[in-house]
Amino acid sequence: MRQVSVEVGMAAARGIYRVVAFANLAEQWQDDLQFLVLAPDEASLAQVETLRQKGLRNIAAATALGLEEGDIVDCEPDRARATVLFRESDVHHSLFLTNRCNSYCVMCSQPPTRHDDGWLVDQAIDIVRHVRVPPPVIGVSGGEPLLAAAGLERVLASIKDCWPGTDVEVLTNGRLLHDVRVKEALFSEPPANVRWLVPLYGHADFLHDFVVQSPGAFDETLDGLLTLQEMRQPIQLRIVLIQPVLDVLDELCRFIGHNLPFVECVALMACEPTGFALANRDICDLDLFEAGPALERASRVLDRYQVRHVFMNAPLCALPPRLWTRATRSISDWKNTYADDCARCTVKDRCCGLFAWHEKNWKPTKLKPIEEAIA
Ligand code: SF4
Repeated sequence: MRQVSVEVGMAAARGIYRVVAFANLAEQWQDDLQFLVLAPDEASLAQVETLRQKGLRNIAAATALGLEEGDIVDCEPDRARATVLFRESDVHHSLFLTNRCNSYCVMCSQPPTRHDDGWLVDQAIDIVRHVRVPPPVIGVSGGEPLLAAAGLERVLASIKDCWPGTDVEVLTNGRLLHDVRVKEALFSEPPANVRWLVPLYGHADFLHDFVVQSPGAFDETLDGLLTLQEMRQPIQLRIVLIQPVLDVLDELCRFIGHNLPFVECVALMACEPTGFALANRDICDLDLFEAGPALERASRVLDRYQVRHVFMNAPLCALPPRLWTRATRSISDWKNTYADDCARCTVKDRCCGLFAWHEKNWKPTKLKPIEEAIA
């Protein structure tokens, strides 16, 4: 999340605001939304304060560098800061429903917490209400969003209501999908605009359960996948490439092709070097370039079963060229960066680049800028 220092006008309360330029306030104003009005000088600051005194209590003036018109922010006037929760100009957008989780994955980029954070559901709905231009796709994640299944159902309903043309991607470990109450909350009327992104890390229980550090998780996730199939829901399976998973990748891909042919896509993802991955570096830090032959084999197995697959978080110079057409620019905008060497690379505009924390921690491989022109 991007944090920005702001100075906010008098009497503004903490909350969700849409950022708007002063010149566009009249056109965008609605009485059920809150607006943070960018006031670049004393005169506009005074104008906003005058409007407030005349009764427009849902506006506040702000001076800040780093905010854009259309940003949805959590503004904390007391701490003189705003956190950008949604930015129109980003390619990737997401809503965060909880930091709690029922798994404890060895490479988790965002280690779970236990405290009650039920307010995040209301915040997500508030973000949806405040957005000016609906995104084509929105991710919904946690923690484990199914721990807040009733809240997830409310969030899905508000997206359907406010953004009827938006597709939703719910990132879940799937373990609670077979639970009767969760099924009732989510599938009494199965959604038509949701894709489910479900991680699978092995073709046998002891492998998957080790990676997610939760006995019984493999069986629960398979039950969840079968529930999604029964509900005719599209599924993307997610495989994070850490050493214990790479060691069984052939078998895992064969298992998927043989037993889960209904999945729409498999995403093979390089590990994000942060969170628990740092503590478990011995099994999480693998050189993607050296893993190339294993990735090509996995791709051939999935092709044989006609399972569509993509590579995520994998820079092109780390992948065998045969796999480049399957590589996606998957890293969220606010986490994404490129190394200095990338400036002279001819495929930079198609490459996902690096996570911002690659420099401090580790890179997926030694980068090799592609210098010849590639069609
Ligand atoms: S050098 Fe940089 S831009 Fe080029 S392929 Fe590698 S990571 Fe991507």
